[in-house]
Amino acid sequence: MTVFLVGAGPGDPGLLTVRAAQLIARADVILHDRLIPVEALAGARPEAEIVFVGKQGGGPQMPQAEIDRLLVAYGGAGKDVVRLKGGDPFVFGRGGEEALVCLEAGIPVEVVPGITAGIAAPAYAGIPVTHRDLASAVAFVTGHERPGAGAAPATAPPGPTPSSPAASPATAPPAGEDDGSALDWPALAAFPGTLVFYMGVRALDRIAARLIAGGRSRDEPVAVVERGTLPSQRTVSATLADVAERAAAAGVRAPAVTVVGAVAALREPLAWLERRPLHGRTVAVTRARPQASALAARLRELGASVVEAPAIRVCSLEAELPDLAGYDLVCVTSPNGAHELWGRLAASDRDVRALAGARIAAVGPGTARALADHGLRADVVPGRAVAESLVEALEDVPVRRALIVRAAEGRDVLPDALRARGAAVDVLAVYETLAEPLDAATARAAASADYVTFTSASSVSAFLAAAGPLDGPRLVSIGPATSAALRAAGLAPDLEADPHTPDGLLAAMLEDASAR
Ligand code: SAH
Repeated sequence: MTVFLVGAGPGDPGLLTVRAAQLIARADVILHDRLIPVEALAGARPEAEIVFVGKQGGGPQMPQAEIDRLLVAYGGAGKDVVRLKGGDPFVFGRGGEEALVCLEAGIPVEVVPGITAGIAAPAYAGIPVTHRDLASAVAFVTGHERPGAGAAPATAPPGPTPSSPAASPATAPPAGEDDGSALDWPALAAFPGTLVFYMGVRALDRIAARLIAGGRSRDEPVAVVERGTLPSQRTVSATLADVAERAAAAGVRAPAVTVVGAVAALREPLAWLERRPLHGRTVAVTRARPQASALAARLRELGASVVEAPAIRVCSLEAELPDLAGYDLVCVTSPNGAHELWGRLAASDRDVRALAGARIAAVGPGTARALADHGLRADVVPGRAVAESLVEALEDVPVRRALIVRAAEGRDVLPDALRARGAAVDVLAVYETLAEPLDAATARAAASADYVTFTSASSVSAFLAAAGPLDGPRLVSIGPATSAALRAAGLAPDLEADPHTPDGLLAAMLEDASAR
């Protein structure tokens, strides 16, 4: 029985600490806020109780007293409770209050620091918060103050919030700023280093005005980093004089941090994330989940925001691999087929030697690569990954008896052509692809992506059925068979990969994105 106050980092799931991941993986209960990486909860046990205690769709926050009550109730019941908060639990996260409540109830507490947005968002925007020549100190400041906090006496009537210039606390702060602020603005203005404001998007005009009034230059560099560390991160560069106007014009919204100081100007050379070639683009991946992750990971590294929308599921079929000695040609017509072939060899106590007497043909470079993953080099690989091209490529290859390893729903172009040449052909369907339903949110996100990638003909109709009408995404096809399926569905591929591999697909998108 422990309550773990755990920081989940600012948004990029890669910034979750090892300790946080460990605790999430064994928690009985996870109480979490809104601003945590969605992926953070994927590692929880299926039996874990996951309780959302944040702001519901911009609505009111669950009252703190209720969160405290839940912590004590779960912790007191002997459960391991992870209280998961965005960024660091002790930086503007009320973690200190929650820890004290638990301790008072006799529940042990452990704190797992997280990477706070005030450091991470600037870092991802290319801004070091300290710098040997430019800033020897950094201050984290809240731009959103508790109503009545600080200078206002505790007995002050519940009057205007600090955001209202009309607020008039009885005792003015030292600045003479008669606005109920708990912050010492002249001291902040004089602070010899970088100021990082959290929660201040709506107060930017007042923050800037007070710093200027306190003596900071109107030309002081400022950067507002919205949705820092996420693929949709945006940064607005400005000066104190125009930051409010520029942020408003750009429509900056929470969550965002505002960096004030000379270091903010370093962003121009150092903005590494926002310069990634697919930054700001959303790409839907429609392939089956096990294959999707590698493509999704590469897209993310290129800066894309990825919607995993697996429209199909690959199902292995019961099909025994025959004795292979009699075949002089084995054709494999998809990467899945290659993996299935290999799996069956192993499952029947055989290995590559069983294929020693046969030529191996792959329908395209992707399949050839999947074969190579298992140490098999394809003898025949056509340039275009379609059955027709494989038939052509096999024209001068003598074939007596062929085995075709493929999906149940494959076309018969290849077996028909080989039979027409007088060969004996066995077709072994080793898997089938089934349509996979998409939940409404995923379907919407995929349909309105900038790019939708299709890596097999079978994913086309399944995706179109699941996603509904598309909202203008560029359609990216891995090769001619997939493009044909798109055309058959009344759509035209905007891009076709060449070579017909995931690499070719990425290259086509990179070229397109750089031109648009
Ligand atoms: N405990 C958190 C801060 C919670 S206060 C931390 O350590 O990061 C919430 C504020 O944090 C937001 O209003 C915003 O100012 C900042 N914030 C959180 N996530 C952010 C992100 N991904 N990008 C920019 N600012 C973020």
